[in-house]
Amino acid sequence: MNYFEYRDGRLLAEGVSVSEIAERVGTPVYIYSARTLRRHLRVVREAFAGTDTIICFAMKALSNLSVLKLFSDLGAGFDIVSGGELMRCLTAGADPSKIVFSGVGKTDSEIEMALRTGILMLNVESRPELYRVSEVAQRLRLTAPVSLRVNPDLNPATHPHISTGHRDSKFGIPLSQVRDYYAEARGLPNLKLIGLTTHIGSQITETSPFVEAAQKLATIVRDLRRDGIALKFLDLGGGLGIPYQEQSPLPAEYAAALLGPLRGLELTIIIEPGRVLVGNAGILVTRVLYVKETDVKRFVVVDGAMNDLIRPVLYEAYHEIRPVEERQRSAVQIADVVGPICESGDFFARERELPEVQAGDLLAVMGAGAYGFVMASNYNSRPRAPEVIVDGTRFHVVRERESYEDLIRGERIVPLREGPDA
Ligand SMILES: *Cc1c(COP(=O)(O)O)cnc(C)c1O
Repeated sequence: MNYFEYRDGRLLAEGVSVSEIAERVGTPVYIYSARTLRRHLRVVREAFAGTDTIICFAMKALSNLSVLKLFSDLGAGFDIVSGGELMRCLTAGADPSKIVFSGVGKTDSEIEMALRTGILMLNVESRPELYRVSEVAQRLRLTAPVSLRVNPDLNPATHPHISTGHRDSKFGIPLSQVRDYYAEARGLPNLKLIGLTTHIGSQITETSPFVEAAQKLATIVRDLRRDGIALKFLDLGGGLGIPYQEQSPLPAEYAAALLGPLRGLELTIIIEPGRVLVGNAGILVTRVLYVKETDVKRFVVVDGAMNDLIRPVLYEAYHEIRPVEERQRSAVQIADVVGPICESGDFFARERELPEVQAGDLLAVMGAGAYGFVMASNYNSRPRAPEVIVDGTRFHVVRERESYEDLIRGERIVPLREGPDA
């Protein structure tokens, strides 16, 4: 469900014409719908209504300050994975008591920042990290609220790059060692063990892996209680998929899958949804530069590229592509939609059925809100695209297009020795 719809053959973002935004701001451009963002948060919240739940938006999916502010104003917390993300969400007004810090490689300075900020908890992923957190907390004379992230050893059907709950993955501590970890952690100074965490992967389109994960965590919680360790928070991560092309469970079905096995445990539930909150709330609009025909193929060359949206090549991801202006009775053709970058991996779609397009037409790459702009790079020295938020009948540029000056910021030309090396 989103608020990008056609009216009279023109694609609208809520009440604003997409082509008008493209004219005013240029292309490529990311456009987000505030109404869709609000709706998605509400639907997820309603799915968990009646359960003591904290929704921590996994902000790595979309970290524009205005998006963070919108979610923060609606009472969401944040799941962060770096000091930079902590800075961003605090800048947007996040409540530290609803911030959880995930990731296998937190640095000392990031741990320090988190402890000084007074976040809800650090999700710790290894024994050395546990000791490091304890050391940093001692040095600061603070107590570190800690949750251990367990790897539940299951393998949801998703792309291998975004599957994180299998025993071969770098994430979490092994299921078999969790109780030992807690016993050991209990003896470490300046730690407070308050939670248990997992996150099994992303773009998961079945409920069964969530059921299985919740069952395994429920067992651990009961075992720990027997060991005399009473936790307050159970953090179930994110991972709910969205319908790029496939079907995905509704938030209510997802909530039921997670909450079923946890009945009677009396814990505060934390969830870390990323993609499901923002994926369908954003599109990438790009303009056709050329239509190139070879002996065997037709290429629609657009001004957006893999540096703007890397998901198709990185995850073999499918994104629906729609014309911004629908033509009556237009013929359908098969084409690869490709960008200007000097890589064969620079495509948005391959062998795709599209309405006939010509140079100058605008195309909308749908479902680009999650892991879109945040993964953009300057490869091929391309300035990153602007980000726009539509709210009703108005739109706002919430990040400007980068300039050529931005591209070389921080670089310097130094006097190096001339001539060949001896
Ligand atoms: C990426 C990530 C999420 C969010 O995953 P989605 O699939 O976007 O919901 C949640 N928690 C952790 C620890 C993550 O790394």
